[in-house]
Amino acid sequence: MRTASFGASSTQVPLVGQGTWNIEQSRERDAIAALRAGINAGMTHLDTAEMYGSGQAERLIGRAIQGESRDALFLVSKVLPQNASREGTIRACDRTLRRMNTNYLDVYLLHWRGGSRLEETFEAFDRLKADGKIRAYGVSNFDVDDLEEALSIAGPGQITCNQVLYHLKKRSIEHAVIPFCLRHRIAVVAYSPFGSGNFPSLRRGGGKILQAIAERRSVSPYQVTLAFLIQKGGVFTIPKAAELNHVAENAAAADLMLTGSEIEEIDRAFPLGGDRRLPLL
Ligand code: NAP
Repeated sequence: MRTASFGASSTQVPLVGQGTWNIEQSRERDAIAALRAGINAGMTHLDTAEMYGSGQAERLIGRAIQGESRDALFLVSKVLPQNASREGTIRACDRTLRRMNTNYLDVYLLHWRGGSRLEETFEAFDRLKADGKIRAYGVSNFDVDDLEEALSIAGPGQITCNQVLYHLKKRSIEHAVIPFCLRHRIAVVAYSPFGSGNFPSLRRGGGKILQAIAERRSVSPYQVTLAFLIQKGGVFTIPKAAELNHVAENAAAADLMLTGSEIEEIDRAFPLGGDRRLPLL
């Protein structure tokens, strides 16, 4: 599994990790088997949130990582903006740690900007760091103006990552968010790389191009997509997969290197578009 250093840190993180939104909708033993298979295949970056299944996704991760070496995992969760006050953030993190059956998170994120006061949220994040409950913190769904504000409050090097929507039909972050993050050494984590299951039809338009590249390379169009999203550099991705064959494909996609002309074909088939605003789900 290819890795890269995460933001300004020297921590090596796999380019392809595992999302867990809606994973609690699978049978528990299937969800756990999928997460374990992913970890064994190198997808040790596990992304969750207190919001997902009202804590159920965090609990599933807690069960899936039993017996794993904690140091080998990269665990990320998110606090809801309505809980992200000075004291509320600490309480939310404690609940998350209990559900995940761990004593620290590698990264704790503010799920979206919402109405929380960043000064309070970041003060709480700093306290959690000092107490050893989180190693680093970051944000999610932040556009450039929010990132500028966040950096001015937290200080340089403190915002480890920005987790944002990024897939072939929603490439707006390429305009300004990715360049800003690269400049400030903030890792970009691409969520919903398959459009939350709304994948392009393989029978027409850009989907046919993906299919053709996939056939030439003996891989799946989903693998071509992941390879495209991570290949330009600075981007990690966290597909969610509850099916074991999907898990195996996603892990293998990290090692698929597309040629320059394949990248150009995909670029043309799924144009970047002019909308510079951060896309939200
Ligand atoms: P996604 O990863 O874009 O798509 C998931 C869907 O794709 C599932 O139906 C899955 O099926 C299917 N799939 C996965 N691998 C596949 C493969 N190789 N071939 C065919 N189908 C495949 O959707 P997402 O859950 O929206 O996004 C991923 C993660 O990003 C989330 O789980 C969450 O952790 C994070 N996220 C964060 C935010 C935020 O606001 N920060 C928002 C949304 C998502 P099976 O499950 O049946 O295998």
